[in-house]
Amino acid sequence: MDIYKGLKNIFGFNEFKKGQKILIEGTLEGKDVLGVMPTGGGKSLCYQLPAVLMEGITIVISPLISLMKDQVDSLEEMGIPATFINSTLSDREFNIRLQDIKAKKYKILYIAPERLNTYLFLNLVKSIHISMVAVDEAHCISQWGHDFRPSYLEIPKFINSLDNRPVVSAYTATATREIVEEIKTLLGLRDPIVSIIGFDRPNLFYQVIKVRDKFKYLIDYLEENFREESGIIYCATRKTVGSLTEKLIEKGISAVSYHGGMDSNTRQKNQDDFIYNKVRVIVATNAFGLGIDKPDIRFVIHYNMPKNMEAYYQEAGRAGRDGEASDCILLYSPGDIVKQKFLIQSSTFSQERETMLYKNLQYLIDYCNTNKCLRNSILKYFGEEIEDEKCDNCGNCLSQSEMVDITIEAQKILSCIYRVRERYGATMITQILKGSKGKRILELGLDNLSTYGIMKEYTEPALKEIIMTLVAMDYIHMTADKYPVLKLTSASIPVLKGDVKVYHKKELLESKQITRKRTLDLEYIDENYDTKLFAELRELRYRLAQQKGVAPFIIFHDSTLKEMATYFPKDKEEFLRIKGIGLKKYENYGEDFINIIRDYLDRNNMDISNIKRVEIEKSLKVESIDRYEETYNCYLEGLSLEEIAKIRNFTPNTIIKHLERCEKRGKTVDWSRFIDDPAKEEKILKAIDQVGLERLRPIKEILPEEISYEDIRIIIIKNRLK
Ligand code: ADP
Ligand code: MG
Repeated sequence: MDIYKGLKNIFGFNEFKKGQKILIEGTLEGKDVLGVMPTGGGKSLCYQLPAVLMEGITIVISPLISLMKDQVDSLEEMGIPATFINSTLSDREFNIRLQDIKAKKYKILYIAPERLNTYLFLNLVKSIHISMVAVDEAHCISQWGHDFRPSYLEIPKFINSLDNRPVVSAYTATATREIVEEIKTLLGLRDPIVSIIGFDRPNLFYQVIKVRDKFKYLIDYLEENFREESGIIYCATRKTVGSLTEKLIEKGISAVSYHGGMDSNTRQKNQDDFIYNKVRVIVATNAFGLGIDKPDIRFVIHYNMPKNMEAYYQEAGRAGRDGEASDCILLYSPGDIVKQKFLIQSSTFSQERETMLYKNLQYLIDYCNTNKCLRNSILKYFGEEIEDEKCDNCGNCLSQSEMVDITIEAQKILSCIYRVRERYGATMITQILKGSKGKRILELGLDNLSTYGIMKEYTEPALKEIIMTLVAMDYIHMTADKYPVLKLTSASIPVLKGDVKVYHKKELLESKQITRKRTLDLEYIDENYDTKLFAELRELRYRLAQQKGVAPFIIFHDSTLKEMATYFPKDKEEFLRIKGIGLKKYENYGEDFINIIRDYLDRNNMDISNIKRVEIEKSLKVESIDRYEETYNCYLEGLSLEEIAKIRNFTPNTIIKHLERCEKRGKTVDWSRFIDDPAKEEKILKAIDQVGLERLRPIKEILPEEISYEDIRIIIIKNRLK
């Protein structure tokens, strides 16, 4: 079977995701491979597909026992015989599995690394044919990363003990180059094909939100977004988790808690209820998430600040594994930042580690305060190439929040701290500035200070908020004592002197919070599926999942159901065209789902040939049609790329995407119009020949400075290279 047939018949997909093909072909040619792809990038398929096509059994080493069952369930649903060996098995079950493996019943075996070099297992592998050893989450072998698993270091020993060394493949989503190098060496990969694709997750919408009333924001958000779908709300403490869950339930929102202090049965049950879509929201501390592969998490909201950028990327990244549009929203409050700083200060870390943690936290603080593209801010942190100044899909690119100049306020507060010789905390400073007649203030004679009462017009909470903001931005240092004292920092002086201005993001007005628009330029299923049918299909899926004791997404992903509710497949041929449906799934569920669809059409007197033409066209987002049309009209006027970008207020890259979309819809685009110098094209094509198409950066790097990413993209599109 060729790889495209396998992809379609088994997995139900028509195309490979970025990076998959090269790794799969490499494996099938007998070469070691190392794949670095972001979460949701589709790493599993890179070893699952070759595993089916090759002779023998593939051994997959995976660190997370909790995921093995889901993975095996998913594979069995697709008709791939698979199993796992880990500590959850009884001796009897273990022995039966060994027998079945020997009898060649399976194509894929998941195993925990601790089990590899055990006597029983080493004995078993002598008598079976191993087609490949696949190492998932390969970064666990590195001591530098946060997921280090000592037993991963045992993997090379296992591989070397095999009589015939099988092909070895490794996969990770780790973002650092050092770790990638380490994986190669420590695993002993032999001249591997390495494919690294970027860390961007284009389907994630990033936003930082500052509101006075976080709870109200949350309720509004949950009312208006992804009502039928699930998400995580992260809180800093167990206490907040508990109280927030209660408040949400009071408001009629289906929610459960998850944190390390709960008894393990309840915790497990809550987790399962979330994964199996029995509840909508899980409110959790950062204890939740590792080993959760739920693909259809539509939002991750941080009710409190996470501890640093790395943690944020990890936690927020749990949204949208299935590639569908999802939200990552951080509710910002300076008070939370101050708490995080405290935690670092009062810990017993080494000086070196403390500095590192501070830097990492400061990065997150800058993320909260910046008015520039949030996606780029994240990518920069991980050393990614930035190809566009704006992504057009984050809170900052879509609506600039107002920046307020708080230099004067900062100067008043800083000089007050200076006048009291850095002896008091935030409460006293606030009272002095407000001109309080409190007993202690008068006793200490603080009413004689020149800064006494100079900020009368502010409310106390407002003043505190500004102080916390200045602490967060490092203009003030707050000691980590029982009674924290405010002190000046090296950054304070330039502010006092008037050399540096201080800006701060304005709080969002309550009404503005949720009116952000979502402008995705990706090929998502347009949100024009029949929602009533979708609901019925979900119900059927839920019932089937209950019967089988698996999570609903193991049967079909939401995107698959949405496609059904868009194209109304009513026979085998049409059904198999839907994304995510292979032969086995059709066999198991095709009839049930087709029956629902047919029945739905009958009940509603719908004629689908008509629906497709009329309804779908009609309900196509007017806004998005306009967007592409408008761009196309500018194109027709003969404007240059930059001119169109300027008029349309998008980046040139987005304009290219719009025009690509227009072309797909049947309009003509003469790309050569955008190439000012024919010699450029030749140079670019040559460069592509040299370094391939996988990533743009290497192409750009070997070309002269004046050739832009846009030039490269246009040449690729014009020559239909992808
Ligand atoms: P990773 O391990 O890289 O985080 P997964 O292997 O869990 O990602 O895959 C993420 C999602 O992408 C899954 O829902 C999977 O079904 C889907 N997927 C994988 N390959 C393809 C493909 N070629 N086309 C469409 N969807 C795919
Ligand atoms: Mg994975």
